[in-house]
Amino acid sequence: MGRIVVTGGAGFVGSHICEALLQRGDEVVAVDNLLTGSVDNIAHLFGEPGFVFVEHDVTNFVHVSGPVDAVMHFASPASPVDYLEHPIKTLKVGSLGTHKTLGLAKDKGARYMLASTSEVYGDPQVHPQTEDYWGHVNPIGPRGVYDEAKRFAEAMTMAYHRSHGVDVRIVRIFNTYGPKMRPNDGRVVSNFLVQALAGKPITVYGDGSQTRSFCYVDDEVRGILALLDSEYVGPVNIGNPNEFTVLELARKVLEVTGSSSEIVYEPLPVDDPTQRKPDITLARRVLGWEPTVALEEGLRSTAAWFSRD
Ligand code: NAD
Ligand code: UDP
Repeated sequence: MGRIVVTGGAGFVGSHICEALLQRGDEVVAVDNLLTGSVDNIAHLFGEPGFVFVEHDVTNFVHVSGPVDAVMHFASPASPVDYLEHPIKTLKVGSLGTHKTLGLAKDKGARYMLASTSEVYGDPQVHPQTEDYWGHVNPIGPRGVYDEAKRFAEAMTMAYHRSHGVDVRIVRIFNTYGPKMRPNDGRVVSNFLVQALAGKPITVYGDGSQTRSFCYVDDEVRGILALLDSEYVGPVNIGNPNEFTVLELARKVLEVTGSSSEIVYEPLPVDDPTQRKPDITLARRVLGWEPTVALEEGLRSTAAWFSRD
């Protein structure tokens, strides 16, 4: 049992992490400025002993009184639509926010976990992506604000580890989906499910041949906590290695929802990666982790969540 600071705790992944930590008996201090997250994601936790929410922008000095055993830095816009709308805030939370939260971990003698991303691999020329691949990122393209912020964050995390002896973990998260995604966050799973449930056209960008590998949030959080608890610094890929084209995803969504929506084609965003699939050999070996929820099953739970009253 410990006391854990979760930045981005009111976001999609962060709120699931807060829940999982409380469930296993940890205390949680969730810190979030509600830029892309919502108190609705954590409202049910407010009465729980050991849960505190602090509304704060972590690009400014982060003060937490009392002991802290771990700092999990999950604050950052993560959907392409969000980080294209907030390019400078994204760069700041990945750089200044990482610096401030590493400072907090150093001060408290706490373990530190950075939420990194498959986007550090950019439009990858190695497939599937292994952790030792350095990536193929356009630093000046629109996605560069997110990709380079996370690459800087990884560098800063390793510098605090090497220079200050902070006990760090780096997790590279691949496309994650599930309940509590914002219906309008612009990501492919939320867009397709919301469109299918409303009988509206499914918007496939490009010809739909680009691939992604989708991990259900429960699997993702289990992997993240396994890394947090392990003695392995990382980076470690945590994602589902089952790869689908975007068009295959559209068809699965139609099947799962029983929708008769038509598929329409829209322009591909600039620098949209053509393929993405994690090599999870390392996670299997050092954490004994692998995902268990199949895409159909995860889509069904997420659809049920989007169609709740
Ligand atoms: P999200 O947008 O739902 O959550 C991010 C949270 O961070 C939000 O609640 C937002 O309000 C908060 N935030 C943003 N800037 C902040 C700041 N300056 N100070 C305090 N809080 C701030 O996104 P998510 O999908 O839950 O992603 C969480 C983390 O996981 C991010 O770091 C993201 O880069 C990483 N990640 C997610 C995915 C995915 O598929 N969901 C994939 C790779 C990496
Ligand atoms: N995409 C799509 N239709 C949508 C939203 C996204 O075809 O309505 C595509 C997008 O171009 C990308 C993939 O789906 O190729 C995944 O997009 P997402 O925004 O979910 O995440 P990314 O992996 O690009 O960060």
